[in-house]
Amino acid sequence: MIHMTNVENLTVQEALTAVLAPLTILPPEPVALPDALGRVLAAPIIAQDNLPPFANSSMDGYAFIAADLVSATDDHPATLQVIGDIAAGSAPTIHITRGTAVRIMTGAPIPPGADAVIPVEDTNENWRDKARPLPATIQINRPVKPGDYIRPPGGDIQAGQTVLQAGHIIRPQEIGLLAALGIAELLVVRRPLVGILATGDELIPITEPLQPGKIRNSNGYAQAAQVAALGAIPLSLGIARDSEADVRAKLQTGLDAGVDLFISSAGVSVGAYDVVKAVLEAEGNIGFWRVRMRPGKPLAYGSYKGVPYIGLPGNPVSAMVSFERFARAAILKMAGHTQLERLQVLAELQEEMESDGRESYIRAIVTKHSNGYIATPTGSQDSHMLTSLVRANALLIIPEGVRHVPAGHMLTAWMLDQP
Ligand code: AMP
Ligand code: MG
Repeated sequence: MIHMTNVENLTVQEALTAVLAPLTILPPEPVALPDALGRVLAAPIIAQDNLPPFANSSMDGYAFIAADLVSATDDHPATLQVIGDIAAGSAPTIHITRGTAVRIMTGAPIPPGADAVIPVEDTNENWRDKARPLPATIQINRPVKPGDYIRPPGGDIQAGQTVLQAGHIIRPQEIGLLAALGIAELLVVRRPLVGILATGDELIPITEPLQPGKIRNSNGYAQAAQVAALGAIPLSLGIARDSEADVRAKLQTGLDAGVDLFISSAGVSVGAYDVVKAVLEAEGNIGFWRVRMRPGKPLAYGSYKGVPYIGLPGNPVSAMVSFERFARAAILKMAGHTQLERLQVLAELQEEMESDGRESYIRAIVTKHSNGYIATPTGSQDSHMLTSLVRANALLIIPEGVRHVPAGHMLTAWMLDQP
């Protein structure tokens, strides 16, 4: 629980630290393997089998005993008697003795007795037509070492080994590995359920016709999309009028659904936040902050009936940038991630910029050039103009205390998309 009412002038880092401090990782839940993509492992994975499970051939070729080839040369090739044919999927019982060989396909088990394979290209039977009848003998004109072209059992993973640690993020390659190990179900961190509330008497649903003085609730959609893009689950709580009863009713819907976090927009700037503030003060605790950040100076953080609560500013760009900087990290932490920040690169500013001394997040396009990245701001930086974000692929960070940045200066770019 934090008790931080009206803390003024926090740095972005101080505010972020305070937002993250009370949040803990959500409990685990079992999921079927295909549903684990993008999720965070909640418990280590221990292999029950060897990978590969048995010694097998890495080539189409012949299996035999390496000692038979020690003196094989072009002039005096070794001749081996071919006593069988082993396809992938078969379980050979044929036993290899000195002077004998079997034809073997990639992935087929090495028969007992054999200790090496030679690719078919390196024999006198240099063909790839698997329908061709089995030759009676083959000739090989070079030695091979024991173990050549054999994938040993457990060569990739040994039974009993810890394959993945808790906290590992499941990507397609992890899905493939877990499938190879026969893990059809696994424990991952539960996805955060995030209640999204828009507040303001001026807001109407996007399905209704515009009316004088009203605007459409765009934040509700933008924040829900930001939540979904992180792999968390947005729950729209609709629009709350500027009345305490309505805010309570909408938040109650979230509590009934079991949300892990509330995110609201608007009503946190000075003189306008009384309704949300009153509700939160009565039922939980709240810190109304002014963060030394542009856009996004006002930010509320606390809890409502025990559920963490982040109050974003109302202006659409401010709401999205504040989400990027604070809510994103909060949701990722709850989901079990440890990398809470976006990729950041250094980019050369193409035009001079002014700032007011707060840490500023400039909407920009960052592109890659031969010797690094260059950044061009996307025009007007007014925080009500969403097009500045639509045109951008990055937020350029002008550090705190800096009021003028000359063209050619290097700035950190917080990448929203690939440069
Ligand atoms: P406020 O924080 O209530 O002072 O709102 C700041 C600005 O954001 C005002 O211009 C609001 O109309 C606008 N705004 C607030 N909520 C939303 C929303 N859900 N969608 C779009 N704009 C909003
Ligand atoms: Mg308002």
